[in-house]
Amino acid sequence: MTQLFDKVAILGIGLIGSSLARAIRRAGAAKTIVTFDGNRAHGARALELGVVDQALESAVEAVTGADLVIYAVPMGAYAELAALVAPHLAPGAIVSDVGSVKMAVIRDLGPHIPEGVHLVPAHPIAGTENSGPEAGFAELFQGRWSIVTPPPGTDEAAVQRVADLWRAVGSSVEIMEAGHHDRVLAITSHLPHLIAYTIVGTATDLEGTLQQEVIKFSASGFRDFTRIAASDPTMWRDVFLNNREAVLDVLQRFTEDLTALQRAIRWGEGEQLFELFTRTRAIRRSIIDAKQA
Ligand code: NAP
Repeated sequence: MTQLFDKVAILGIGLIGSSLARAIRRAGAAKTIVTFDGNRAHGARALELGVVDQALESAVEAVTGADLVIYAVPMGAYAELAALVAPHLAPGAIVSDVGSVKMAVIRDLGPHIPEGVHLVPAHPIAGTENSGPEAGFAELFQGRWSIVTPPPGTDEAAVQRVADLWRAVGSSVEIMEAGHHDRVLAITSHLPHLIAYTIVGTATDLEGTLQQEVIKFSASGFRDFTRIAASDPTMWRDVFLNNREAVLDVLQRFTEDLTALQRAIRWGEGEQLFELFTRTRAIRRSIIDAKQA
């Protein structure tokens, strides 16, 4: 057990915030863990569950004296919270986050980082479709990647402290430029969610009997999309609003590929379909080999 921080303040104690609090505690990586959550019931529940040492009434109280502040609220809430807490950040403190888009963090938190405080954004590539403090668990980050995206010129020691924290909770760490992160995640995470939301949306618009049968026979493929499409609406709204360009870019390419498939089906070009499905099967195998399945 290595204590890396004295006081960690987690803003937002939902799925990711409470998982991180549990994992930090289990690793002994902080002396004290406090939280502020806009939903008072969530703060109180986290305290009851023993996930945090204190659930505070305001974000200002939470960040005061903290050497690490982690934003784990939906991304749309960052800028307002940041303006509020900025004057109360301790000199030398590190401000980090877990948000799913990274350029927007530099845009929204960057202007509210005082001289001598270090902004080191991060994104754990781990999650579930559930929300709130009860949904969290300490093992969530075990064996997963966490991507750290420091803005150019960030203090190297601060970057390493954030990387060490993610390693302490079981993750492997990759340091990446924020814009590159957003392009990678647009294809690996954001587009798949958009497709799932669309398929499930289309099915719910079908006429009555057909809709019932979709649910009855969902095990034939639809079910897997419904799990992804059950993800938190606030979080995902904010992801698409904050990674607009990268998502629109991959969506354009996806639409072209879909049109090509549509054409192959229309003209009975089985070879083209077979060739694609063979390539995609190999991708699945490499994900299993990389232990990310
Ligand atoms: P969550 O379970 O809904 O937790 C967020 C918490 O923040 C909730 O308790 C929420 O309360 C509270 N909150 C909302 N607005 C607030 C505000 N303005 N001030 C203070 N508290 C506020 O969400 P999550 O899944 O942990 O996601 C949190 C962050 O993690 C997001 O930025 C997301 O991009 C990132 N992330 C999520 C996943 C995932 O799979 N879920 C994976 C990686 C990263 P209410 O419930 O009452 O709104």
